Amino acid sequence: MIQYDVVVVGGGAAGMTAAIFAKRAGRSVLLCEKMPKLGKKILASGAGRCNILSDKVGAEFYNTEARALAASVFGQFGKDKILGFFKELGLEVYTQDDGRMFPVTDQASSVLKVLEMELERLKVSVGLNCEVKNLHIIQGGFELKLSQATPSPFRHTSLDGSVLWRISSLPSKRGRGPGEGGRGDVRCGEVILAGGGRSYPALGSDGNAYALAQKFGHTIVEPVPSTVALLVKDPWCHSLQGQKIRAAVTNRIQNKNIRTVSGELLFTQYGLSGTAILDVSEEISIAMNRERIREIQVEADLLPSFSEEALKTELSRRLARGISAEHLLEGLLPAKFSAAMKSLLGKKDLAAIILDLKHRRFKVDGTRGWNEAEFTAGGVATGEVHVKTLESKIQKGLYLAGEMLDVNGHRGGHNLAWAWASGAVAGSQK
Ligand SMILES: Cc1cc2nc3c(=O)[nH]c(=O)nc-3n(C[C@H](O)[C@H](O)[C@H](O)COP(=O)(O)OP(=O)(O)OC[C@H]3O[C@@H](n4cnc5c(N)ncnc54)[C@H](O)[C@@H]3O)c2cc1C
Repeated sequence: MIQYDVVVVGGGAAGMTAAIFAKRAGRSVLLCEKMPKLGKKILASGAGRCNILSDKVGAEFYNTEARALAASVFGQFGKDKILGFFKELGLEVYTQDDGRMFPVTDQASSVLKVLEMELERLKVSVGLNCEVKNLHIIQGGFELKLSQATPSPFRHTSLDGSVLWRISSLPSKRGRGPGEGGRGDVRCGEVILAGGGRSYPALGSDGNAYALAQKFGHTIVEPVPSTVALLVKDPWCHSLQGQKIRAAVTNRIQNKNIRTVSGELLFTQYGLSGTAILDVSEEISIAMNRERIREIQVEADLLPSFSEEALKTELSRRLARGISAEHLLEGLLPAKFSAAMKSLLGKKDLAAIILDLKHRRFKVDGTRGWNEAEFTAGGVATGEVHVKTLESKIQKGLYLAGEMLDVNGHRGGHNLAWAWASGAVAGSQK
């Protein structure tokens, strides 16, 4: 049976980085990816541009439970090291005004390509269509049961389709490669679990890898969709469908304001979306989908550049000029808002109009699902891994990295920052 020093489960951002660092440390490495290609989620990220990092990297951008872990990992592999890593691979990046960083090509495929080139350069063994179905402890390490989804899964194909190498033709320490023997088992000294979360299952990460960690007794904090649109049954959503404005949005859980975010508010057929909603969705999804709390609202300030006082003055000025109720919001908000607020505007009750414009509340009925959530909140409990090494506190030789852990970053490059940094730290351990 083929033997490696390290097997990495999952060929996403975290797994590829972990494999590169493990190989650079002189170990033999097998990277197993259940999909036919590596890094599918990288290609989808940042709307195809891949927001690889934020210019501010730090523990404060993550859920409270993850902060000690994030602080330790970024202390070892922070912004400069992540940028240095990609610079060495040949990827040039630029920073937008909002602090988000992208490859200068504005193509996520450039990010994946440089990672694949490094895997090729280092001759890391890569198994595609290769799902790790099970693993168990043997003396001195682990034995893994791999799927045999194709007759010859152990070959790595470059982006242009040419076969780069086959694992079965690489020298192994003992025995034949699984591609030749067809048994689909490998042995290794260490395992790095980087199987991702549950969001966008069509891209590969469907939550199956949690079971591999659970086998050793790890706790899985119930995964819920995050960075996700909200279901709201409100006549405004119907009449304003397709309208997008800049707003300040606050999530309210059991009548308590939790977080306010400024950004895009988009009215849709089923409710609310846009960047501001995605940003406040994490706490809402955890409350609704994990804690089963029903009393949840979002409050929107549709004119955040006006104080209530200034808005009162402006609307009074308009009324004094004889502007009719139906045109009162002209130049302030898109025309459709006047239609949505028709009955209220007709009454010319300024206090009520201002309340609707500055504190419009929407009752949230639910969230959209896994196929639309950009991220998973939840995963392997952060307290169960060593903060310095990401090694499991329960099982020696087992490491965890990336979205699989209960580490939820804000939008804006923090989730990929975590994937690169945790992959590098887990891969660097000996
Ligand atoms: C649409 C979208 C846009 C996003 N945009 C951004 C962005 O711009 N910036 C940002 O910071 N974050 C973004 N994110 C989040 C970010 O992409 C992820 O957090 C990050 O890619 C997670 O990396 P990962 O390696 O931990 O997991 P994944 O990328 O999910 O990789 C896990 C891999 O493991 C494989 N796998 C799972 N189980 C097994 C198994 N048993 N055996 C073998 N292989 C297995 C899966 O097929 C998958 O390829 C976005 C996410 C989505 C969905």
